[in-house]
Amino acid sequence: MEKRLDIIPLKDWNLFNLFNDKRPYLIAGPCSAESEIQIMETARGLKALGISVFRAGIWKPRTHPNTFEGVGTPGLKWMQRVKNELGMKICTEVASEKHIFDCMKFGVDMVWIGARTTANPFLVQEIADALRDTDIPVLVKNPVNPDIDLWIGALERLNQAGVKKLGVIHRGFSTSEKIRYRNRPDWQIAIELRSRYPELPFFCDPSHLGGAKEYLQEISQTSLDLGLDGLMIESHCDPSCALSDAKQQLTPKELGEMLKGLIVRESDSDSPEYRENIHQLRAKIDVIDESLLYLLASRMNISRQIGQYKKENNIAILQTNRWDSLLEKVIGRAAEQGLSEKFISTVFNAIHDASVQVQNEILTGGQADGTGK
Ligand code: PEP
Ligand code: MN
Repeated sequence: MEKRLDIIPLKDWNLFNLFNDKRPYLIAGPCSAESEIQIMETARGLKALGISVFRAGIWKPRTHPNTFEGVGTPGLKWMQRVKNELGMKICTEVASEKHIFDCMKFGVDMVWIGARTTANPFLVQEIADALRDTDIPVLVKNPVNPDIDLWIGALERLNQAGVKKLGVIHRGFSTSEKIRYRNRPDWQIAIELRSRYPELPFFCDPSHLGGAKEYLQEISQTSLDLGLDGLMIESHCDPSCALSDAKQQLTPKELGEMLKGLIVRESDSDSPEYRENIHQLRAKIDVIDESLLYLLASRMNISRQIGQYKKENNIAILQTNRWDSLLEKVIGRAAEQGLSEKFISTVFNAIHDASVQVQNEILTGGQADGTGK
């Protein structure tokens, strides 16, 4: 049995309530703190949009050495100015015990753990121990590799150290595949984590996920449609001169326009009519799902009989011609019903794979349980 996390709801973190207290909760600011002027100018622009939580990287984990690795502790003084003069809350990335202690000295309101650090249990434990007996909220980015347990393990370490203001950020996973985004989103993993821990505040970082500013809108919209709580977005007063991640940062003005274009759909409604209609539609879906299961089980039974029959007659399991013509026929029929080829071939290939597996088990004398596993 999975251990529950002991979480304080986002609305009680006392961070996102400067102007409004509505979804999406926003965190914005430059990839890196570069100068006091850059920090103040960016923060003023963001505050004017109604954003109350300001981010900036102070220590930057870079791929190559001898690149800009952040301004370090002096940058925290600039952040503190944002807090004192503009009344914004400030947050930054931490990767060690020293970072935590420095953040506490300069009144940092929230920290996040970066993707490379989440992947390292030694560092996460060190950070968790340093946070014991503090009240600082922590957001944990997904690890660079798509390992949900590593992500959960980091949350457990922090929670066991008493961190209850805990949330997560989906920033996509590293991939060697050529894709249009910088990192590969895995919404399935996000949904899985969300369903295991519905109480856990969930953010998306479209900037590191997309890697270029033209993708921010579509990624943000997807995360809102999935019911995520908030967004962490990089914004710089002059992105073209940014010392890191120049391509993915928006000016505060551009960010304001992007945010205006987002549609926030409620996850539920109090309207009795809506509730009744959705209830009826879902009941219909449930009935259809039952029938689908029944049909799949019946099909699998027949497939098992065919397997047995082939065995008795010493016939090979795979007859690719038969499958190709069947698939072609099905795809044609599906098109008439408005079902896409991609969808139908995925479904039928999965059914076929399971069927072949079951017949194989019969042939080799293994246990054919009909699950196809
Ligand atoms: C960042 O938010 O500045 C950052 C480095 O992110 P990530 O850990 O997602 O790469
Ligand atoms: Mn960045």
